Amino acid sequence: MNVRTFARCASQAVLDAVYPPQCALCGTMGDPAYCSPCRDETEWLEPRVTTLIQPDPLTGFAAATRYAGRSAQAVTRLKYGRHTALAEPMAATIARLVAECRLDDVDWVVPVPIHWLRRCSRGFNQAELLASALPPARVRPELLRRVRWTRPQASLPADRRDGNLVGAFACTADLAGAHVLLVDDVLTSGATLRECATALRLRGARNVTAVVFSSGMR
Ligand SMILES: [Zn+2]
Repeated sequence: MNVRTFARCASQAVLDAVYPPQCALCGTMGDPAYCSPCRDETEWLEPRVTTLIQPDPLTGFAAATRYAGRSAQAVTRLKYGRHTALAEPMAATIARLVAECRLDDVDWVVPVPIHWLRRCSRGFNQAELLASALPPARVRPELLRRVRWTRPQASLPADRRDGNLVGAFACTADLAGAHVLLVDDVLTSGATLRECATALRLRGARNVTAVVFSSGMR
């Protein structure tokens, strides 16, 4: 063990003594942020891309888990409870899903952006955290910007969600012929991902596939 490795291990040991690891979901002390029993309770989905038919702006989507139980709890705790220790296991899940669905040859990975005001109050964009285990050279958050403040989708009835997001996103570069992979924490109505895909296609993206940690689609 070299000096640097020793220093890292020692500082991790100190951190673990001060802040012992704990499952962010069930609270079990000494366990990782997404512990094994919580994983067992999670409804994992078959790793596959569901293809959508044009004129849907999304080419298809893949989801790691069903939006229920521990999965829904993880999404909520990461985003609203700021349990950022969940980001690492959730990002690893996204990376595994991308590999299993053979989506690793996309041109660009774009996390769904949040408005800068929301980013300031939350301190992070959960979609960016979830893209953090994907190849850094392909992850380009700056390609898509949230240009309009919108009410949280979850606060609106289903029939008002589509209209809420019209013109909320803008693509910042020419993407002629590119295959873009959108990353987000959760897919419910799909309105957010479709609006992002529309903005990317307006700048020439040929295919836009989405990967999410959790899906509420039936
Ligand atoms: Zn747990």
